[in-house]
Amino acid sequence: MDQESLRWWLSPATLGLLGLVIGSFLNVVIHRLPLMLERQWRRDSAEMLGQPLPEEGPPLNLVRPRSRCPHCERPVRWHENIPVLGWLLLRGRCAGCRQPISLRYPVIELLTGALFALAAWRVGPQLPVLLWCAFLAVLVALAFIDWDTTLLPDDLTQPLLWGGLIVSALGWTVPLPSALWGAVAGYLALWGVYWLFKLTTGKEGMGYGDFKLLAAIGAWLGPSMLLPVLIGASVLGTAVGLVMKASGALREGRYVPFGPFLAGAGGAVFLLGTQTVLEWLGFGF
Ligand SMILES: [Zn+2]
Repeated sequence: MDQESLRWWLSPATLGLLGLVIGSFLNVVIHRLPLMLERQWRRDSAEMLGQPLPEEGPPLNLVRPRSRCPHCERPVRWHENIPVLGWLLLRGRCAGCRQPISLRYPVIELLTGALFALAAWRVGPQLPVLLWCAFLAVLVALAFIDWDTTLLPDDLTQPLLWGGLIVSALGWTVPLPSALWGAVAGYLALWGVYWLFKLTTGKEGMGYGDFKLLAAIGAWLGPSMLLPVLIGASVLGTAVGLVMKASGALREGRYVPFGPFLAGAGGAVFLLGTQTVLEWLGFGF
């Protein structure tokens, strides 16, 4: 492909539109992946305990069944499935039963579109921008799944980590030693905090999913970006936690998951550019 067509296909406008469509798919992943994992765990436990397999109902995966209204089961028509526009055409209500459709669907589509457009602006018209879009898309899915369920599924964190190492080995992102040590340091940093917290307070402050997520972010951004990501995530997480506690949105005994803030800070550090972030921290030259 020549430079002229790359400039068109990888422009912020084109990738922004692609982001809207991918965001629509992420809505399905965010909703269904935790349900699919729960079924899998029930099956595995029954098998291990030698119990009869649980009743499951119709098959569920990322493609089937087709999207339908959770209230009246009315299938979503193709034009209602168009990102953002579908929701606007329906004025945020199911055409069958008039029950409201969550504003979160178009918000996730718009967010993904905006992130893809920003990635295009940051990287420029060259093919690795598509890898960075994939990186951001997986972060969006992880952030919302963790927020809903306090789970960071291995099915997303592990491919993100290996993907980061592979694209680095192919010379498309940071140099391979940076990716490798970024992954190792990312995992160990939170693993260390976890054990320090557990040995001093007897409580678990986060889960193993958080270590794997920071390892993956380290593989994409390199070790020098881990501290900025951790600082950003901690500041944001603490602020949101305090606001939720003060407003009563956080029930007693519940906690705010750390994953959404790690993912948010990881994406933000990439979009701001590593050089800018280092300058802010006083390491600029
Ligand atoms: Zn309905």
